[in-house]
Amino acid sequence: MRIILLGPPGAGKGTQAKAMARRLELPHISTGDLLRQNVSEGTSLGKQAKGFMNKGMLVPDELVARMLSARFKQQDIKKGFMLDGYPRNLAQARTLADMLKDGGMKIDAVIYLDTSESVVIQRLGGRLVCKSCGANFHIKNMPPKVKGVCDNCGGALYQRADDNEATIKNRLNVYEKEVSGLIEYYRKAGLLQRVPADEDAPLVLDKIVKLLQRNNDFSKV
Ligand code: ADP
Ligand code: ZN
Repeated sequence: MRIILLGPPGAGKGTQAKAMARRLELPHISTGDLLRQNVSEGTSLGKQAKGFMNKGMLVPDELVARMLSARFKQQDIKKGFMLDGYPRNLAQARTLADMLKDGGMKIDAVIYLDTSESVVIQRLGGRLVCKSCGANFHIKNMPPKVKGVCDNCGGALYQRADDNEATIKNRLNVYEKEVSGLIEYYRKAGLLQRVPADEDAPLVLDKIVKLLQRNNDFSKV
């Protein structure tokens, strides 16, 4: 099964994509995670991407497309994937369609996590991410059992460089500008499924699972 998760920064795409990927035994592909990995490893892609990311701007389409295309060449995506953070504009949606077509693949569902702006700002401001496994926590909503330590793996938790007020605002502006075209594109393709996502993560996950169960004959869900 090949699923795209859409939604504003802070909608919980990463949290839901990780949980869904575990549940469905699918690889989780996050362009944000891949880019951050490149930045922390100091690759040439990472060096080019860093400035855009810290300002809350999109990394140029071409760079992200190249990175994603390399990821799609790995064997594990044969059984499907949960795509998180891509596409972010119409050009990327078209690039993705072409890449999949070349591999004889197509998207099965696009899940749009519909979240209000106040919830998004509150979530991003308090987000904590594990350095080792990438798990997300929240200072208030989802605190780790031990302060600064990941529940899953014991890794150190940190705040992302782009989770500050000014950059969050910019990321939301970029998102608002691009998302309507994207939603229209997938609605026309008959793939779009809207899921209200202001509630706590486990409740949202239940809704997504039910929706996929209803629309797909998929025994693992
Ligand atoms: P969020 O959705 O919370 O902004 P992500 O981890 O998905 O977080 O993305 C973080 C940053 O990485 C973005 O602000 C952008 O700079 C860059 N990025 C991630 N995915 C893409 C993409 N598909 N195209 C361009 N830039 C991207
Ligand atoms: Zn961890």
